[in-house]
This record gives sequence, structure tokens and C-alpha cells, in this order.
Amino acid sequence: MTQLNGQCTCGEIRFETARPLLRAYCHCEICKSYHNRDFADFTVFRARDFRECSTGSVSYKAYKQPPLLRRGHCDSCAAPILEKANIPGLPRLMLIPSRWIIEHEGLPEPSFHMFYNLRRADATDGLPKANGYLASQLKFAVHLLPALRR
Ligand SMILES: [Zn+2]
Ligand SMILES: [Zn+2]
Repeated sequence: MTQLNGQCTCGEIRFETARPLLRAYCHCEICKSYHNRDFADFTVFRARDFRECSTGSVSYKAYKQPPLLRRGHCDSCAAPILEKANIPGLPRLMLIPSRWIIEHEGLPEPSFHMFYNLRRADATDGLPKANGYLASQLKFAVHLLPALRR
């Protein structure tokens, strides 16, 4: 099992993780604001494969109700560093902005776009693109469920 390491800009939040389940792009408004980017590039891990070894702390906040996803910023450098997902019927997940993973070559390629209808610019890749809430959630589930069975 290849271990991946990550850290925020200031280095106070550090973690080890393994076995990425999927990687995707999200163009929703919350992601754009949380990541402070034109779109999010995130990778999903099981919480049980994730271990934090931080010297600092993360403040989590739910941007939507119900709080299925709590998004955290480093208290020191304010980097959008970790997202905890607690979705009924699924194991607990960590969503991590892909750019914080140091061994970038250990990440899978992104496999789809979510909320593509909210994009700021057209994507030039040939990946599948889901528009709107339902299609985006479905695309996420269709990619996540087989990965959870591996
Ligand atoms: Zn999003
Ligand atoms: Zn930091």
C-alpha cells in the first residue's frame, strides 16, 4: 500500500493517507469559494486510511444543511486543507484538495467533472461532465461505489 503524505502551506497540518478512491473536478459555487479556485480538484479517501499528524488545528464548517460535508481550514495559514464527509450508508470519507498531496504521481487521474454547468471556463479534456445536483451526485456515487468494493 503506497503511503501518500500531505501538508498545508504553513506545514502545521500534516497527514498520511493511502488508497485513493477517486479523484474528480467540481465546479459548484461552494467549492469555488472554499478552494478559492476556478474549480476544485479533489481526491477521496476512506477516513480509516487517513491519519493526521498535525501540530496545528483545523476549523471545520458545514456550508450546507444537512452537514454531510464539513470543510476545514488550517487555523494558521487558512489553507482549505481537509473535508470530512459523513454520508448515510457510506463509510466515513475524507476529501482532500489534490494539490496538498506531496506525491502527486501517486494520485489517480481525475475521472469526471461535477456541476459542470457552473463552470467558469470550458474544460479541454474528454472527461465525462455532469450538470446539476442530481447528475453530479449520481456521477460521484457511480465512481465511488466500485472503488469502495476494491
Ligand atoms: Zn463542489
Ligand atoms: Zn497551515
